[in-house]
Amino acid sequence: MSTNTSTVAIIGGGISGLVCAARLSQLGLTNSVVFDTGNNGPGGRCSSRNINIAGKDHEFDHAVQFFTVSDPRFAKIVSFLHSKKAVKVWTGKIVQLKKGAEPIQVKNLQPFIGTSGMQSVPRCLSSLVRVVENNWVSSVHWDSVVKKWKVDDHGWFDYLVVAHNGKCADRLMADCGVPKIHDLLKVKFSPVLLPKTNVMQLCSLWVLLVAFPCTLGLTFDGAFVEHGDVSWLGNNTSKYSDKNCMECWTVISTKNFGAVHKVPQEHIPPSKEKEVTHLLLNGFAEVTGWNRKNRTPCFTRVQLWGAANPLNVLQGEGCVFQASHNIGICGDWLVSPCVEGAALSGLNLAEVISKHFKGERRDVGLKNHLVPNESKAIGAFPTNKSLVFKPAV
Ligand SMILES: Cc1cc2nc3c(=O)[nH]c(=O)nc-3n(C[C@H](O)[C@H](O)[C@H](O)COP(=O)(O)OP(=O)(O)OC[C@H]3O[C@@H](n4cnc5c(N)ncnc54)[C@H](O)[C@@H]3O)c2cc1C
Repeated sequence: MSTNTSTVAIIGGGISGLVCAARLSQLGLTNSVVFDTGNNGPGGRCSSRNINIAGKDHEFDHAVQFFTVSDPRFAKIVSFLHSKKAVKVWTGKIVQLKKGAEPIQVKNLQPFIGTSGMQSVPRCLSSLVRVVENNWVSSVHWDSVVKKWKVDDHGWFDYLVVAHNGKCADRLMADCGVPKIHDLLKVKFSPVLLPKTNVMQLCSLWVLLVAFPCTLGLTFDGAFVEHGDVSWLGNNTSKYSDKNCMECWTVISTKNFGAVHKVPQEHIPPSKEKEVTHLLLNGFAEVTGWNRKNRTPCFTRVQLWGAANPLNVLQGEGCVFQASHNIGICGDWLVSPCVEGAALSGLNLAEVISKHFKGERRDVGLKNHLVPNESKAIGAFPTNKSLVFKPAV
């Protein structure tokens, strides 16, 4: 095999898949294609929505709220994103809210956000790689004679990367001749980690996007909430210096709330949408003291993230690779469930594929075990380990 001729199909255009493709290209494997389902562009759980309310556009971060940097390899990526004006530091006040207690400001935190919503991050990364958008990969097949992967009707590829998890990955890999890979991608859903279960476990979260026609005058811009149905509140207007007089908030439920109100993500009954909107608005009011009578929202929308965050992570090399079948897995659940974890996993897998391409036939991570993910924060990103770092421009 020579450089430029080996082809890589990456299924999933979240942060892990995009970073994997970009790093492969740096390493000389320039023929990779990222397939992603997103019809608003790639990004997966690191995306945002631009919503027109009363004739004006507003950014809403509907999953990732901010990310932190603790690893030098990720710091390099963030420096690059910063140089391209895709990320900035969020200078808003972030607090912890406990019932009956004064807000406590979270210290030692350097939160990064996109420049125009979190979507700026995948948008910038995808400018470096080839992405087939709005494309759901429904079948893959390994031919052991030609030693290639067939991906739907997109043709044959030398390598296959599974850069997503949840039910889709479990189903996609069920019958394609790589049982060890499939075993790792089997999944259970739960709000709390089920003991003695060596299977990937994911929680579900509901998210409410809400806009008010005026400012609420709260004393914080983001809050980790430690009581009731809400786990996070974030003020998108403060993040994106929206001067439209409106105040746009993201409200994220607790894992428990996500489990209690789980419905099929593809067919959410309107009655459930109404109920969840009502409950999360109540939660918002309880936490913030917002008076529902004199400030009515002018916009609400709810979204269910069925496969929101991993409760356990695979200990080891930060990716998986089966050398006999040229197949690898990357994703946040292989490092830590956050943007940084996803990016590092994509980097790790690209390095392993590059070495395999150069002749190193080594399996990676196939026998590793899942361990609990200890952090409680949304996205479980390592808030307390983050370093204050200056992106090089
Ligand atoms: C509500 C919420 C809040 C969060 N908050 C934070 C936070 O504040 N900070 C933080 O650091 N992290 C946060 N996270 C976690 C963060 O979003 C993830 O860790 C990270 O984005 C995961 O990236 P990934 O590439 O591993 O997976 P994903 O982002 O899930 O990417 C997988 C991609 O694959 C696509 N896909 C799936 N199946 C197929 C198929 N068959 N064919 C083609 N494409 C397919 C999906 O559409 C998706 O785009 C949050 C997550 C959620 C849900």
